[in-house]
Amino acid sequence: MTYTDDDMLMLSGIQHFMFCPRQWALIHIEQQWDDNRLTIEGELLHKHVDDPAYRTKNGDIICLRAVSVASKVLGLYGIADLIELLPSPLPDNTICHPRYRGYWLPRPVEYKHGQPKQDLTDELQLTAQAMCLEEQYHITIEYGEIFYAQTRRRHRVDFTGPLRDLVIDNARQMHETFSTRQLPVAEYSAKCRKCSLIDICMPDQRSPVRNYLAKNLYEETA
Ligand code: SF4
Repeated sequence: MTYTDDDMLMLSGIQHFMFCPRQWALIHIEQQWDDNRLTIEGELLHKHVDDPAYRTKNGDIICLRAVSVASKVLGLYGIADLIELLPSPLPDNTICHPRYRGYWLPRPVEYKHGQPKQDLTDELQLTAQAMCLEEQYHITIEYGEIFYAQTRRRHRVDFTGPLRDLVIDNARQMHETFSTRQLPVAEYSAKCRKCSLIDICMPDQRSPVRNYLAKNLYEETA
């Protein structure tokens, strides 16, 4: 099965969906957004990273920045921070570049402002980007890298079968949730403290809206 252009969802949302399906739905179904320190730091980091003219070559490696990627199988589209093209003596799993002769192995690189996380949200986003490139160029990509600004180190991510399955499963659930246009129910947990949408989500407000209206509106007018 493949998705049509009208069905495509933003690839960057897959990390939000894995972090919290309700956060993803607030952003992508209700078009809600709010910044906190973490989101502002991320935005500042991407100022240079996403500039296509910034550092286009690094030794033998070609640096392609802000690259559009898409997969009709996953139904996802987005922008990859950086695709590095490494020279290869063999044509297997390589692509061609209009300006540089030879065979080039693509290596997706994602930039993150913090440090490696305990969960797989960053790895999931990078794997989804690789799966898009694989579909677009009919190649297989073995690994990519995530650069963390806080540690100033790159972290290698092997695109294993389980990671790929996780991407497929999360993409399918995103499409299912989007088709309902329903917000998943809020569940307050430790991660809510890091969520920039906590004031919109109000996960600790457990009583239904009708109780709130009954208490604050109907009582006053009675
Ligand atoms: S506040 Fe918590 S439940 Fe609400 S969107 Fe954020 S992480 Fe999800």
